Amino acid sequence: EQMKADYAAALSHDLKTPLTAMKGYAITLLLHGEKLDEETRQDALEVINSEIDRVTRMFDNLLHQARLEAGQQGRYIEPVQLPQVVKRVVSVHQLSSRRHEITYNVPEALVVRADRDQLEQILNNLVSNAVKYSPRGCSIHIDARPDGRYAHVEVIDTGPGIAEDQQPYVFERFRRVQDRMSRKVSGSGLGLYITRMLVEGREGEGGVRSQPGSGSTFWFRLPLQRRVTEGR
Ligand code: ADP
Repeated sequence: EQMKADYAAALSHDLKTPLTAMKGYAITLLLHGEKLDEETRQDALEVINSEIDRVTRMFDNLLHQARLEAGQQGRYIEPVQLPQVVKRVVSVHQLSSRRHEITYNVPEALVVRADRDQLEQILNNLVSNAVKYSPRGCSIHIDARPDGRYAHVEVIDTGPGIAEDQQPYVFERFRRVQDRMSRKVSGSGLGLYITRMLVEGREGEGGVRSQPGSGSTFWFRLPLQRRVTEGR
């Protein structure tokens, strides 16, 4: 019961924050739009756009969680082109956050067996955390390569990293690291839990490596549609 109450509180706070930001910027544009210079107007629209993405991601996570709990995992498995999904996720985040440079290196031949929406959610959660927890100017890189019958994917950031004793716990439900950085960023501690469930439900696995002070690498692997010969 306590967990449910905490969850409801975290969720309302998470929802309230982007809504308040959107409302503020929308009102400013509505009342003073014509008097604002082009750059300020553009900034306001970018905030509105990225906050909408944030709320959408939260709802997608809740939806995926409900689907997982209802045992409706994996009804839509198909061959999915990994580079296409990565490009899409990067362009959405790049558009809404100019604070970071986001790069990727994903061989064209990587086709995984997955549910496209789930795969997009997995990447979205990892990239959005990298964006959320890394200060301005940090870089974010997505790297993928074939590894036997798997595609091995890494989301690498140069942010604050995660203390070693906390690393085993970040995939647990509602778990948030209690440090200064995480306290400043709003979150419900659900993203990585859902990410792990989605990966493991697809016969994959995932984890984190991190060096406090120099960054984090979140990785996962999912089965390939067919093996890729290195160098082809
Ligand atoms: P949320 O971001 O909503 O708190 P997550 O389950 O996505 O929940 O992440 C759990 C915790 O792991 C976060 O609260 C944060 O402390 C830590 N974390 C996740 N990703 C990163 C990252 N890229 N860099 C540093 N800390 C991170």
